[in-house]
Amino acid sequence: MKSDAFKNALRQLENVSKIIDVDESTLEILKHPKKIMIVNIPVKMDSGKIEVFKGYRSQYNDALGPFKGGIRFHPDVNLSEVKALSAWMTWKCSVVGLPYGGGKGGVIVDVRKLSKGELERLSRGYVQALRDFIGPEKDIPAPDVNTDPQIMAWMMDEFSRMQGYNVPGVVTGKPIEVGGTRGRKFSTSQGGVYVFEKIVEKLELDAKKIKIAIQGFGNVGYFAADILFALGYNVVAVSDSKGGIVLEDGKEKTLNAKEVLKHKEATGSVVGYPGTRTITNEELLELDVDVLMPSALENVITDKNADKIKAKLIVEMANGPLTPEADILLEKKGVTVVPDILANAGGVIVSYFEWVQNLQNFYWSENENISRLRTIIEDAFDEVWGKKCCTENCSLRLAAYAIAVERVATAEKLRRNL
Ligand code: NAD
Repeated sequence: MKSDAFKNALRQLENVSKIIDVDESTLEILKHPKKIMIVNIPVKMDSGKIEVFKGYRSQYNDALGPFKGGIRFHPDVNLSEVKALSAWMTWKCSVVGLPYGGGKGGVIVDVRKLSKGELERLSRGYVQALRDFIGPEKDIPAPDVNTDPQIMAWMMDEFSRMQGYNVPGVVTGKPIEVGGTRGRKFSTSQGGVYVFEKIVEKLELDAKKIKIAIQGFGNVGYFAADILFALGYNVVAVSDSKGGIVLEDGKEKTLNAKEVLKHKEATGSVVGYPGTRTITNEELLELDVDVLMPSALENVITDKNADKIKAKLIVEMANGPLTPEADILLEKKGVTVVPDILANAGGVIVSYFEWVQNLQNFYWSENENISRLRTIIEDAFDEVWGKKCCTENCSLRLAAYAIAVERVATAEKLRRNL
């Protein structure tokens, strides 16, 4: 990992603690995950050999409700990253007013090296190892980088098998056929676009002229590009782990995400898409565009490249794409940053709907899910924007953290009589 993600998360907490009403003891509690599990998962490989994979689950805070957060399968997964992601989930659920705490999990693995059977056994092994600590009332995992609805189906099945009855509410992000919810797969991106449109209105940007670059073309990046394309915005550059593409001057004004996806599915990357020039992921961030949507991994904008960023608006679709140092430099440059805990909360909001539907065994239409998502995320945006206006020199990140941390701190205090 490029920098210590949890240190960054703690710095963000320290920053906000200076402007909110939080006593020292509560703050001390908020600086630590409540529980961390480290598991070694033996998996029988296709060769017949056993390989052991290291997995984590960090349960950060449950003052507002059960722990909630995704599971990441990636070679760079480490404890600091998982802890940071679980802290950010706590603030994310809080800022949009969900009755959830925050958690996060991960396994150190390169999924490209696993067969489908090996991936299934690893996913089931993760649930076996953590069975006592997860469940609809305790901790509800979901997909993250390199984990998808199929993996959630295996995990739900494994947990249900061990319990002896069907427990669809143990994970969210499942396929619709096994208790998933309509609209979940594009909900993170849809939520981000609702927030993006609100800020475009507030900043009085000329929507037709805005040029957008999106880093990452997975679940979040692809659907963001697709929804923005459908709304008539100009997405001029996208990327994946193999590199990026930018439209060549004078050709099309926007990339058609569905066509780019077909190219990626056929060739393994967005790179080489007709009518575009190949760029690196670093170059994508430094393009002469109006809006950047980092939608891949964390710590991609740091003090090393912040001065080269030309965009005036950054919508953090990924978790933690900016380091705190970059945040300060960009604020000085007048760049508006919509923080991850608000911009990408659409996924957990619709995950919450999925869990509610699982618990009540009554399912909603896609329209119901998406219109409820819109209400929740737009209200949260208005609240954050309102807070920002009340405080001098307050970034949207600080405003969002102030609301989120204050809510968790109040719940901690009320529950624990500190
Ligand atoms: P994904 O695995 O579907 O896609 C990740 C994308 O990033 C892929 O296109 C991959 O090629 C690209 N990528 C990987 N390594 C890269 C690198 N070094 N440089 C540039 N690109 C790279 O993951 P996702 O679900 O789209 O998640 C992306 C981000 O959004 C993560 O930070 C995740 O935590 C966050 N997020 C996801 C959701 C969700 O619902 N999926 C919700 C909230 C936040």
